[in-house]
Amino acid sequence: MTASARLLIVGPQGSGKGTQGVRIAESYGIPVVSTGDMFRANIKQGTPLGLQVTEILDRGDLVPDELTSEIVRDRLSQDDAANGFLLDGYPRNTTQVGHLDAFLAEHGQALDAVILLDVPREESIARLTLRATEQGRSDDTDEAIAHRLDIYEHETAPIIDLYSAKGIVDRIDGVGSLDEITERVLAALAVRGLRLAA
Ligand code: ADP
Repeated sequence: MTASARLLIVGPQGSGKGTQGVRIAESYGIPVVSTGDMFRANIKQGTPLGLQVTEILDRGDLVPDELTSEIVRDRLSQDDAANGFLLDGYPRNTTQVGHLDAFLAEHGQALDAVILLDVPREESIARLTLRATEQGRSDDTDEAIAHRLDIYEHETAPIIDLYSAKGIVDRIDGVGSLDEITERVLAALAVRGLRLAA
């Protein structure tokens, strides 16, 4: 049986949403669509898009909404996303929510659930500092991290209210072992009737 699940994972930088996103997507047999990963891949390959966004990412700013939404629309139009997907890092502000809603509505689709990973600010910062030494991401400087957390609080956190009004937000405690957190998410999604791939 093929599972169908259209999911969004949201949480502050350092909440572990990237790691959990991959685990959850695997459980459902759906692709992860991570805007951050797509931008980083383009930068690494030196594509025109990569050149266009390198400085933006290094500053911790947002890539323009229209450009970001276009990339996501292209990705979601591919065959492997027909039965579902897990979005990580998009939408990131209310304008992008509007773009995504319009795209999904055109295709007779909607998000099934929004997973909000709840992690205290001190824990996020501790994890990001560790990641900076382990992975050496060029936007994990103190300045860019602080800027990204600010954008999260002012632009991204408000999208939760929009989705809460639709009754699709599952707030998950993001502190614990990786397995515990994955289990919590899968349990919440099961309550919504989202079945795992068999
Ligand atoms: P983090 O959540 O740690 O900030 P991401 O990998 O999600 O990391 O994003 C890295 C960077 O990619 C962001 O700081 C931003 O520059 C760009 N980016 C990712 N997603 C979006 C988006 N939806 N809109 C605009 N810019 C984005």
